[in-house]
Amino acid sequence: MPITDNLHYFESQLQGTPARLVAVTKTHPLALLQEAYDAGARLFGENKVQEMVAKQPELPADVEWHLIGHLQTNKVKYIAPFVHTIQSVDSLKLLQEIEKQAAKHDRVVHCLLQFHIATEETKFGLSLPEAEEILQSEAYRAMRHIQIAGVMGVGTNTDDEPQLRREFGELRGYFTHLQTHYFAQQPTFREISMGMSADYAVAIEEGSTLIRVGSAIFGARNYQVS
Ligand SMILES: *Cc1c(COP(=O)(O)O)cnc(C)c1O
Repeated sequence: MPITDNLHYFESQLQGTPARLVAVTKTHPLALLQEAYDAGARLFGENKVQEMVAKQPELPADVEWHLIGHLQTNKVKYIAPFVHTIQSVDSLKLLQEIEKQAAKHDRVVHCLLQFHIATEETKFGLSLPEAEEILQSEAYRAMRHIQIAGVMGVGTNTDDEPQLRREFGELRGYFTHLQTHYFAQQPTFREISMGMSADYAVAIEEGSTLIRVGSAIFGARNYQVS
């Protein structure tokens, strides 16, 4: 069972580190998700709302679903009943919608602030001033159904290791700044989500607490079936 072997390999890589694995299952069929679950995976990451909504009822209830892709406000309602963490929060408007929808279900949804750390313009994310503007807003302070649990970032698609190290170090710097100024004494602010199949080793060395790994576990994605 290659998926089982791959998961066990990642478990061994994470031993002795603070990092946990989010198995990124986008585009893969349910049978592969079930195989990963049976091998012990519990944190699953999807980047599309529709796909997550279709898969969620078919997996056991103790799966922690993480939304890792760009999220449109009009789609929050579909995942609000069950999503554990939305890793891709990049605006106050989105946070307000998550608050509203989570309140309807009397839930608290964990959120990560996504930062732009890559050189590619196409990647989403906040700057530090933008994140601070959110955290200083009256609207954020009144929220009772979201919990900001940390930060998330996607590194540049490169094998230039010093560059990746700089980008991940930058994200860790944002985490530390926000922790000091907005979440002091709050152990619930603790996640630095960074590192994917190609760069997770550097990310762990730079302090990642959540690596998001897809292809290194499940193989190449077939975008035609999604
Ligand atoms: C697809 C995706 C991943 C996983 O990528 P792999 O290279 O397959 O490990 C991680 N993070 C985000 C945001 C993604 O969209």
